[in-house]
Amino acid sequence: MRRIVFTGFRGTGKTEIGIRVAQQLNLPFIDTDALIEQKSGRSIPDIFHEDGEERFRVWERDVIATLPTLDVVVSTGGGAVLDPVNMEYLRSDSVCVLLSADIDTIEERLAKKPRPALTAFPLRQEIAELRDRRRHAYRASSDFCLDTTETTPDSAADRVIHLLKNGISTEQQLATAFAFFKTGRIPRPAFSSLEKILISPDRDPQTRILGVAGYPCAHSQSPRLFNALFERYHLNYHYTWFEDPELDEIMDVARAVDAKGLSVTIPFKHDVIEYCDEIDEHAAQQIGAVNTVLFAGGSMIGHNTDWLGIRKPLVAKKGAKAVLLGAGGVARAAVYALLDLDMNVIILNRTPEKAQAIAERFGCAWAPWDAFDKLKPDVVVNATPLGMQPDTRSPLKSDQLNKDMTVFDLVYTPPVTPLIENARKVGCETITGTEVFVQQAREQFYIFFGIDVPETIVRELLT
Ligand code: NAP
Repeated sequence: MRRIVFTGFRGTGKTEIGIRVAQQLNLPFIDTDALIEQKSGRSIPDIFHEDGEERFRVWERDVIATLPTLDVVVSTGGGAVLDPVNMEYLRSDSVCVLLSADIDTIEERLAKKPRPALTAFPLRQEIAELRDRRRHAYRASSDFCLDTTETTPDSAADRVIHLLKNGISTEQQLATAFAFFKTGRIPRPAFSSLEKILISPDRDPQTRILGVAGYPCAHSQSPRLFNALFERYHLNYHYTWFEDPELDEIMDVARAVDAKGLSVTIPFKHDVIEYCDEIDEHAAQQIGAVNTVLFAGGSMIGHNTDWLGIRKPLVAKKGAKAVLLGAGGVARAAVYALLDLDMNVIILNRTPEKAQAIAERFGCAWAPWDAFDKLKPDVVVNATPLGMQPDTRSPLKSDQLNKDMTVFDLVYTPPVTPLIENARKVGCETITGTEVFVQQAREQFYIFFGIDVPETIVRELLT
């Protein structure tokens, strides 16, 4: 049987519920904190007191790396999920159950059974601070979520076993979702996998779904990449296409199949904000677009990873003078990334009013398109569709570039665009649009699973 791993804040019932689930399933139970005490020969409070939290985390990591992988129930320490290496081990061939409880309940439970303080704050404030700081990591550690505020350990254990045996969706919901996918443009082999997951009599109720939401999105590389990553990290997930002109329809299907998350693409990046219960500060307040949605514990959380995908390849150019071509959706993420790197940003756009509007919103400069030759930037970022079908012209000619410039084309079909070709002819450093996809996909994977995938692996899987 797949390993069952309980994650969550201290006082949410991981050990008490874990023991009962293990008893009912006739499996051994391991509490990683108890194992650390056993291996170190000291109590957790002593390790914290004598060696500090950092040393404790090393013990914790060692213990997690050597846990059995099958036929066992594991309860983890509240901070274990913060370490991406732990997440890689804990998630491999496992089903992760995230437990939560409201702050009054946690405070009451912890008051009865004191644990070492992790901050200098009073208990209630510590709970609030840490839970908030760790919320993304907890969500990433969940295949199933259970709020234990109102439950006894026995009824919570029964609920967990029910979830593991049946999943969340009803057969009716899965059949309706299957009808949606049937009308889409999902390629044959992938469609057969989906059919098996959703409606086959021997379906695995623990298999979870993710997908790309867009219209059109049949060309998306995400299913190929994510499914390869699931195989590599032994995750019981399947990634598919949610292609439909109606975002409402996509959301209904995502809820019906109890999707773990969605990568959101054109034309829904702005409209999807309406559906979110919470949005990260970058996506909501600044960029005004969500490209990653995570479902956890009944909530829908929106993130933007596009800006991180643009920022990462430019980190070495901090403080540079940058010209951004274009003032559409992706240009907003680009401005946010460039400003985050303290660059002096000037936006040029075919319709100058739009450049002005974005520049005013973000507090940077703008100029007419034909001002480019006077600006002499260190970095040029193309955020227009120029270079891809049907308009395959380069936004800049070779003689407008010089070898000291770094040229970053966000267009990724074709992988080497006419702009990149022109820039290479002149001897510029070049960054292709594929790099954005690589980096933003790594960020998405981290949001969904808490695992930090090395860049080399993503590139290897995309070739
Ligand atoms: P968008 O919202 O439609 O904005 C397009 C922008 O390009 C607008 O500023 C538009 O100017 C300008 N533009 C369009 N056609 C032009 C032309 N013929 N000459 C000069 N300017 C032109 O599109 P978007 O979502 O920002 O996406 C832009 C491109 O970025 C896409 O085509 C895609 O290739 C690329 N992209 C790449 C990634 C990645 O992961 N690498 C992610 C997202 C997008 P006006 O304001 O005058 O209309």
